[in-house]
Amino acid sequence: MLETLRHIVQEVNAAGGLNQALGITVQRVREAMNTQVCSVYMRDQGTGRLMFRATEGLNPDLVGVASLEAGEGLVGLVAARGEPVNLEEAETHPSFRFLPGIGEEHFHAFLGVPIIHQREVLGVLVVQQAESRRFDESDEAFLVTLSAQLAGVIAHAQVTGVLEAEVLGGAEPAKVVGVPGAQGIAIGTAVVVSPGADLYSVPPKKGEDRRAEVRAFREALDAVRRDIQLVSDKLGGELSPEDHALFDVYLGILDDSTIGAEVVSLIKAGHWAQGALSQVMIEHIRHFERMEHSYLKERAVDVKDLGTRVLAYLQAASQEERLYPENTILVGEELTATSLGEVPRDKLVGLISVMGSGSSHVAILARAMGVPTVMGAVDLPYTRLQDRDVIIDGYNGTVHLNPLPEIKQRFQEVLDEDTALSRDLEALRDEPCVTLDGQRVPLWVNTGLMVDVARSLEQGAEGVGLYRTEIPFLLRDRFPSEEEQRQIYREQLEAFAPRPVTMRTLDIGGDKALPYFPIHEDNPFLGWRGIRVTLDHPEIFLAQIRAMLKANEGLWNLRIMLPMVSNIPEIDEALDLIHRAHRELLQEGLQGRLPPIGVMVEVPAAIGQARAMARRVDFLSVGSNDLTQYLLAVDRNNPQVAALYHSLHPSVVQALDYLASASRDEDIPIGICGELAGDPGAAVLLLAMGYDVLSMNATSLPKVKKALLNLHLEEARELLQEVKGMENSDQISARLDRFLADHGMENFIHNPVA
Ligand code: PEP
Ligand code: MG
Repeated sequence: MLETLRHIVQEVNAAGGLNQALGITVQRVREAMNTQVCSVYMRDQGTGRLMFRATEGLNPDLVGVASLEAGEGLVGLVAARGEPVNLEEAETHPSFRFLPGIGEEHFHAFLGVPIIHQREVLGVLVVQQAESRRFDESDEAFLVTLSAQLAGVIAHAQVTGVLEAEVLGGAEPAKVVGVPGAQGIAIGTAVVVSPGADLYSVPPKKGEDRRAEVRAFREALDAVRRDIQLVSDKLGGELSPEDHALFDVYLGILDDSTIGAEVVSLIKAGHWAQGALSQVMIEHIRHFERMEHSYLKERAVDVKDLGTRVLAYLQAASQEERLYPENTILVGEELTATSLGEVPRDKLVGLISVMGSGSSHVAILARAMGVPTVMGAVDLPYTRLQDRDVIIDGYNGTVHLNPLPEIKQRFQEVLDEDTALSRDLEALRDEPCVTLDGQRVPLWVNTGLMVDVARSLEQGAEGVGLYRTEIPFLLRDRFPSEEEQRQIYREQLEAFAPRPVTMRTLDIGGDKALPYFPIHEDNPFLGWRGIRVTLDHPEIFLAQIRAMLKANEGLWNLRIMLPMVSNIPEIDEALDLIHRAHRELLQEGLQGRLPPIGVMVEVPAAIGQARAMARRVDFLSVGSNDLTQYLLAVDRNNPQVAALYHSLHPSVVQALDYLASASRDEDIPIGICGELAGDPGAAVLLLAMGYDVLSMNATSLPKVKKALLNLHLEEARELLQEVKGMENSDQISARLDRFLADHGMENFIHNPVA
């Protein structure tokens, strides 16, 4: 049964759009369950009606025609209850509703299960049978399992269908919900970071120059032929004649006039070469897969391999010509810092990552660069998006395809309002951040890339609260040497001097893997991360500390900070190493005292020990990104649980408040360098709690400054008292929004446009 399930899901997954996906579903389920009817009803997103969308066994003429009201009939009952309904005599049930012409009068037994994706009922999968008998428990369990697995695939196929229809003209608008990555609206053209040649991911597209497309196809074919011949010749003597025959089979498939001719004829009919190739190859693969004879079945693998090779050549040829369009929206399964770096900055307007969430490091980088980003768009058939017009709403985490003109217009207006707001905020650049009653709040920035430096200074940053040293490590193919590090750190320190720069020691592990130092773990966020790695490798730690101390000479604006600390011995050991590096450097002739040293509070265990930690170091800094992830047990990278990542969860608010008071009791300064500090509403609370420094991404700084300039400390304290009495995060967020609106900052709040 498991095997059958897997096959069905795989086949539906490879479908080109919703109709095909549903067609395969009903056909395969009917076969697998050995029943007479299988149909799918899909809920219309606008009207809520349940549309009869696919069937095997009922009247196919009514597909796309017949429908039920929400809640109407047995199908409506399944959808409304979100639970299976299993009946021996369907027509005797009070909810039964006869649909004329559909042809179900002969079928008595009925089993319907809801198709639920992300808590929403997408439709209903039904099997029926003439014999009046109940489908048994194993039937029900099979259908429920299948439906749960198919839900995501169907949601995906819905969007794919829209993309397909767009090529043919007249597509419906589609919205894919992800999570906010970086604020802002972007309207632009999708450029997909290629996942490697995959026949099943080629987007349908019209060919522009048919002759050129045919030529490209023939050249790719020749290239593959040459490759195979080369391998065959190279292995010449080592292979038996039988093995050699395999290569002949390969070449035979390529020379097969039918495959080549089919591709060429599709190109001539208007498809681009890659699309024509994938369509023909998939058809042939299916054909071989269906064969009974195992030898012939095996041919499917060969055909797929060859098709993929030809596709790789075609893609490589078109890649060379890749020019990034004016408003590039970069789309990828899992975007990385490197993929961002490849697009010229003046052309990059937005990012979409299928995986990851708002607290992933790529999202943090995007925020620093001010590039609107949507993360975790798991239902987006991203490989088919190349060259499409796309709108992204980084405030609400949504991607919009084929928007209606009025929606597009509204997004354009929001974009224009944002540009105007940034211009207004520029005027605040050189003003210090002081509340109306004179409370001074230092606003610092988080950096990592060199681009951050210029942006940070432009936005009026007064210091760096977190320099992520792992970023220069991530962009190399080996550990940077002590001298290379010294130069990188010197550049940072110089750029900001005399403002303080807080350098965090290497924080790798979790989702930050160095390509040249791979760490494989089942639970990376609970594993070898941050200080744990560097204490196990004192040579890496010492080189880094030495480089920092050397870079500091003469500037004296360095602060050192330790990440992921969960116990006191880690601090003691790290301090020993830092003192040792300092002593050695003094012996080598370096001048100067030790810089201030601090600890990040980002593991819940550090909350209880905050005072003991504070007694050992010069400052504390809360890493609220990780602290939230660990307090709430919500993986910051997992889109499936992104909605549970509440940065203003009452427990987080309570922890932050306690930490501020603990550091006050120990009389050392406390800052915050998690993304929360860049949220204007949250910044008001942090001010009231008594945080000495707020460090954030450069893009957020002007808004936070504006929020704090507009209030009295006393009001912030009252707000904090009120919020501390609240029991859920949404209530807290809504209260903060209301506070901002009451202080003339309603334009900081962004409700969904569509
Ligand atoms: C944090 O965890 O809040 C933090 C600032 O560190 P990072 O996001 O780099 O893990
Ligand atoms: Mg962290």
